[in-house]
Amino acid sequence: MRTGKDYKFWFCTGSQDLYGDECLRKVAEHSKIIVEELNKSGVLPFEVVWKPTLITNEVIRKTFNEANADENCAGVITWMHTFSPAKSWILGLQEYRKPLCHLHTQFNEEIPYDTIDMDFMNENQSAHGDREYGHIVSRMGIERKVIVGHWADKKVQERLASWMRTAIGIMESSHIRVCRIADNMRNVAVTEGDKVEAQIKFGWEIDAYPVNEIAEYVDAVSEGDINALVEEYYDKYEILLEGRDPEEFKKHVAVQAGIEIGFEKFLEEKNYQALVTHFGDLGSLKQLPGLAIQRLMEKGYGFGAEGDWKTAAMVRLMKIMAANTPNAKGTSFFEDYTYNLVPGKEGILQAHMLEVCPTVADGPISIKVNPLSMGDREDPARLVYTCKEGHGVATSLVDLGNRFRLIINDVECKKTEKDMPKLPVATAFWTPEPSLATGAEAWILAGGAHHTAFSYDLTAEQMGDWAAAMGIEAVYIDKDTTIRNFKNELRWNAIAYK
Ligand code: MN
Repeated sequence: MRTGKDYKFWFCTGSQDLYGDECLRKVAEHSKIIVEELNKSGVLPFEVVWKPTLITNEVIRKTFNEANADENCAGVITWMHTFSPAKSWILGLQEYRKPLCHLHTQFNEEIPYDTIDMDFMNENQSAHGDREYGHIVSRMGIERKVIVGHWADKKVQERLASWMRTAIGIMESSHIRVCRIADNMRNVAVTEGDKVEAQIKFGWEIDAYPVNEIAEYVDAVSEGDINALVEEYYDKYEILLEGRDPEEFKKHVAVQAGIEIGFEKFLEEKNYQALVTHFGDLGSLKQLPGLAIQRLMEKGYGFGAEGDWKTAAMVRLMKIMAANTPNAKGTSFFEDYTYNLVPGKEGILQAHMLEVCPTVADGPISIKVNPLSMGDREDPARLVYTCKEGHGVATSLVDLGNRFRLIINDVECKKTEKDMPKLPVATAFWTPEPSLATGAEAWILAGGAHHTAFSYDLTAEQMGDWAAAMGIEAVYIDKDTTIRNFKNELRWNAIAYK
């Protein structure tokens, strides 16, 4: 999936000229070793670039402005090897506009008990210098990530790697453009929202098109292209006729192939990375886009159903943040559908009418053609499968009228106890943390939607850090959630975000 740029992160070490050239030579040598080893670790998803030690107001200001101007720089990692008087950082920080990480580390892991003297202490005093620097960043109210520990520790490297993905989300959010192929479903509240405020806060461009404008692109797809794609589908997926005539079945599948090709051409030409549809507003399209949307999501497009542009943008954002994760398990649009309330087996069956992304699939994927219980079109073809087991994060971005709130829920995906042979849609089944009862109660109290953007490959910490960088409220529902505290948090946030 294309996410725009070949991003890099700058590593900037702070010091001052009080310590003499010999000390500054060592500071530079140490920070170069750290950068080299971080790059060699294989843990970081992006390259770290060493920058000369920052020792004066002028150099700090110049470096931060160069970081702003370099379109491949996705963020700056700062570390005070020695003491760096923090007033030197004010002008640079004031002008800096990209993600900031404070790696609170130290070159040596252990105190050299036998040899330590005052020279060593003066040269290795990040415990001291990083506090001075941290103070000014806090005083200036600048959002940043603080990561503490020895730079060679795998856990520290993994936290840095995780923050890098958040930083990419922050950088790329303003490049997300959502194509609305229909308006929001009539009378539905939670899929609505302030599109101007979304552009101010997140940088999202959200535009509407008459459905028939994109339907013309579908009509213009050649029979040869459609047949070639149908062949690909028949090679790749199992065909579950379930008593339908094979030729009639194939014709239904071909409609989705035409939609996939036509939609993708439209989105590419007009530079959109996410889209919404609505089953009640299909113009001249013969079927609700099902299989076609599933394949577009697999290619990296964000999607929201019934005009839900907020979720479409969130799915795209989370796909960007999770891109190229080793052994990725997938990111998708979902909808809370049906509960299992049997004690000890509680969970939520996740699906949608059709549109679940195949990246989350576990095992073989089948094509089925079934009637849609809503709308007035012909039976759409769709991809059917169940999803992987394991931990994931479900998010819902809601507009509360005066602000956005991101609700972030840790969930555990499981296999359902039995197969569901009559259900012709892709499904996941998860239990929200800390339990279905508390998780769902908290979700409802927070005003969470029935649509979610879900990923196995991201964490609640990453999503919360992204929200903080966007300047919006985020609430976490996880193993530590209690309803009493959660209600207070919502009450206090109502004041904090007024
Ligand atoms: Mn829906």
